[in-house]
Amino acid sequence: MRKYRCQEELETVICNCCGKKMIVKNGILREGAIHIDHAWDYFSEKDGEIHHLDLCENCYDEIISGFRIAVEKEPAVEMI
Ligand SMILES: [Zn+2]
Repeated sequence: MRKYRCQEELETVICNCCGKKMIVKNGILREGAIHIDHAWDYFSEKDGEIHHLDLCENCYDEIISGFRIAVEKEPAVEMI
């Protein structure tokens, strides 16, 4: 869950799973987290709904550890 100050500057990020308030300084999230914005479409049971959520790194790790198929990983390429 994210709150913005003046519609633009990130003020607060809270993990939707455990409720942990994550560190935000000067509008920048300062710890590992995953943010999802997903627009459900016609083929889902949630057609027309857009879901937003944030997970802290610990909750993310716990959730994916229960996956039957591991998350695919690759090294990130730094853009300079
Ligand atoms: Zn969490």
